[in-house]
Amino acid sequence: MLFFGKAECAVCGEKYRAGDMIKLRDGSLCPVCASKLSSLFPARASTSAENVRAYLEDQSRNRQLLSRFSPEEEVGQERKLFVDRHSGLFAFGTDAELQAGRLDVFLLSDLHSVELTVTETPLKPIVPKEESFAYDFDLILLQEHPILPRVRARINPIPVETRKHKIVKSYIHQIYLGEKEWKGGVAATLFGGDRRAAEDYLMYYTVGQQMVDALKKGR
Ligand SMILES: [Zn+2]
Repeated sequence: MLFFGKAECAVCGEKYRAGDMIKLRDGSLCPVCASKLSSLFPARASTSAENVRAYLEDQSRNRQLLSRFSPEEEVGQERKLFVDRHSGLFAFGTDAELQAGRLDVFLLSDLHSVELTVTETPLKPIVPKEESFAYDFDLILLQEHPILPRVRARINPIPVETRKHKIVKSYIHQIYLGEKEWKGGVAATLFGGDRRAAEDYLMYYTVGQQMVDALKKGR
């Protein structure tokens, strides 16, 4: 085992502490190269070193887009969608990433499709026989782009977790569509008493839909 060994970065060739390794499909990545990737870039076992190299080489083009990116519209709370309709550009990220210029900027005119997906993951129960679930909200973008033709942008910073019961999605969606009045008490019963999870779910679902609408508006 390589507890104190050195590994070689498949992208820059530097030797580094093996403990800091990020595995790629065909090698591993050093922490310095990893720090240059945005949160939208999927640096993990399914990504090749060549994908990473291509992404880093594309950064000069991205910096040019960033230099004229002046978003006048934002949707979301922590993880936001920023839109600059004047320049026809958009990006996902936090305020801190925007200020630090660490965002991937895309062209509205390159966008083919955008949809919101909700992923439900069963969790290991804390109490035996209790059912637990986690929910994640992602925008899936398909676009004309040399490196990131498919983007998965996570809207929630941490998963929305609920105990005992699944979130009753159809009920949430009816509420969103205005067919039912949002009543925490009724919802709490439906969601196994987990009113907080139900409210968080509804919030991220609503924000996700607002992002889809903002992107579909185009330039
Ligand atoms: Zn490296």
